[in-house]
Amino acid sequence: MNSVLSTPALKTSAVIHAAALIACALPGVWPWSMGLVLANHAVLTAAGLWPRSSLLGSNWTCLPDRYAHANTVAITIDDGPHPEVTLRVLDILDQHQARATFFCIGMQVRQYPQLAQEIVQRGHCIQNHSYRHRHNFSLLGPQGFMREIKAAQTAIAEVTGVTPVFFRAPAGLRNPFLQAILHKLGLQLVSWSRRGFDTRETDPLKVAQRLLKNIKSGDILLLHDGHCAQTSSGQAVVCETLPIVLEAIKSKGFRTITLSEAI
Ligand SMILES: [Zn+2]
Repeated sequence: MNSVLSTPALKTSAVIHAAALIACALPGVWPWSMGLVLANHAVLTAAGLWPRSSLLGSNWTCLPDRYAHANTVAITIDDGPHPEVTLRVLDILDQHQARATFFCIGMQVRQYPQLAQEIVQRGHCIQNHSYRHRHNFSLLGPQGFMREIKAAQTAIAEVTGVTPVFFRAPAGLRNPFLQAILHKLGLQLVSWSRRGFDTRETDPLKVAQRLLKNIKSGDILLLHDGHCAQTSSGQAVVCETLPIVLEAIKSKGFRTITLSEAI
């Protein structure tokens, strides 16, 4: 796992702030240094709003390089466990002999422990997606990040016996404080290669098309069992999208693996 100031962007930021402190003592220079600090903050904020950015620290947007030509993709399913959808998703995965990684919300794991256990028992991987999936997660400071992420680690470990090694931020949004907390907890940040926007798109075909367009070995796909949109017939979109995606993956000769298998 990378250290806290592991990226050029964060190292540059630290240098800018140190230089700005010194410049405060120089009357003609401080307005320029203050402008530089503000511009630096704007860049860091933009990086935090860009889920696939690695400017703020290590971030898996695809599987490690050795999977680029291994005909392998990872399916990730967020925001569960969900009392109605998760079991159906597990059945679909079983029917296609596929494996997936579930980024679960800690509070949901506490609420539906048997579903979380079922995910693990059926050979899938369960990882950390924060405790409450707060909408303002990306605005938290170090203590807030630690509380949210550690509570989810504890919930998942106590309920399933598995301690997560990957973390995905709610909506993929974060700020420069997150990397230090992930480093302390031994967690690797993961985003995705492609997503289908299945929390708001009600047409399973459109979701599948977004996920499958130019799909390549090593891709990480994002779907949702929690907070999933519904089709016009009232079905969870993931339940109609997933079979299409799994059939297409199979027809390409690809196999699915969990993120844990890719370490
Ligand atoms: Zn989420």
